[in-house]
Amino acid sequence: MTRHLAIVGSGPAGYYTAEAAQKKWGDDVRVDVFDTLPVPFGLIRTGVAPDHQSIKGVSRRYETTALSDNVRFVGNVTIGQDVTVEELQGLYDAVVFATGAPHDKPLGLPGEDLANVFGSAAFVGWYNGHPQFAQLDPDLSGKSAVVIGMGNVALDVARILSKTEDEFAGSDIVNHALEALKASRLTTVTIVGRRGPHQIMMTPKELGELMHLLRATPRVDPADLPAPEDDAILEPGLRKSVGHLRSFAAIPESERADKAVEIDFDMFASPVRLIGTGKVEGVEVERTRVEAGRAVGTGETYVIPVDLVVACIGYRSSPIPGVPFDERAGKFANDEGRILPGLYAVGWARRGPTGTIGTNRPDGFGVIDRIAEDLASGALGTVTRQGRAGFDALAEERQLDIVTFRDWKKIEEAEAQAAREGAPREKFVDIASMIRARG
Ligand code: NAP
Repeated sequence: MTRHLAIVGSGPAGYYTAEAAQKKWGDDVRVDVFDTLPVPFGLIRTGVAPDHQSIKGVSRRYETTALSDNVRFVGNVTIGQDVTVEELQGLYDAVVFATGAPHDKPLGLPGEDLANVFGSAAFVGWYNGHPQFAQLDPDLSGKSAVVIGMGNVALDVARILSKTEDEFAGSDIVNHALEALKASRLTTVTIVGRRGPHQIMMTPKELGELMHLLRATPRVDPADLPAPEDDAILEPGLRKSVGHLRSFAAIPESERADKAVEIDFDMFASPVRLIGTGKVEGVEVERTRVEAGRAVGTGETYVIPVDLVVACIGYRSSPIPGVPFDERAGKFANDEGRILPGLYAVGWARRGPTGTIGTNRPDGFGVIDRIAEDLASGALGTVTRQGRAGFDALAEERQLDIVTFRDWKKIEEAEAQAAREGAPREKFVDIASMIRARG
């Protein structure tokens, strides 16, 4: 018997789930992978840093899945808007939300709405050409930027803000961002963390990159570092990251002299408000100490003068009408991926914005195991569903302009042709151009 699966979201979680379905059911499954955008691969395209092309190579694996006969890409369709979740449930045995966590977690601080304050979803989306954020137009004419958070996204943003044009060679940073960064006058990028070196979420490879930037150099205040012997209790990855912080603290002033940009780590500093008239001018922070792993305010505050703020403090998923949502956690309410009978979540939509791209693979295989269990136990009913034939009829009736994977290959080809010399592609940054490019 053929099983019909709808996966909503074509990023890593979506394609690993499709791959798992193929492995589980072989020719006995038909999978439709939906995406709001006319282009696939989610965070691989619009989240992974443009200068980390080797990470983007994983999309070739998703392409193998996407090009197989029993999986198809259904782009330019928004579930919950063009087609309801109930309609999908009527057509497919299971609906899996692999919609990621595309919204910024708010800082929840006074002044957050000042001009030139952005969340990382918006800012990363801007330099990666996400149609929703391509028009962001951040003002990089000031001298000082603050990046809030001590995770890998904060590192991405600090690094991108600090690179020279030459260092973007071979990247797929979009032209509008490259032009803005070329004109940038920033001389200080301060990474503000509310806890200390032992609590950073930055991974060693990514942190180590800061040592090799052409015009920027990192700075850590030696006084913020615990005694070296205290690192012994850390797991090896974190110990290595803290080792990098120690190297940054040891960089002699003579080596800094010829670098135009400083990436300054301001740890034990919790933002309390953003200050400015119209546009942001300062970030007021409270000095903290870490007690039992938690940041505790000391009452001492100071203001970091600033022209641009990017908060890299985590993400939230998008609620979809009719699907239970855990507002506090910012993800679908689920038990090991099960939301309701026939409705599942996977990846960041299931567990929140943590882990690497590879973490989504076991997640995808896990949710397919649960669907298989539920099909076997009769929990999903015994009705025969129409799957893609039913969807196609509905799409025709609504005149949905579906973008197929074959269309995407044409868009991809046009992006490759428009690329700067040495770059893999110049992305289309608006939906109309993407649709036009498929011919
Ligand atoms: P993250 O790793 O969870 O880091 C978030 C940071 O924001 C933490 O330092 C956290 O501090 C801080 N924070 C949270 N709320 C805050 C608040 N209200 N005020 C001040 N600071 C706050 O998240 P992420 O950097 O967004 O990354 C998301 C996931 O993607 C991670 O798993 C990351 O490793 C992954 N990623 C990987 C790569 C890569 O491998 N190259 C690149 C980008 C992203 P506390 O710890 O004190 O809460």
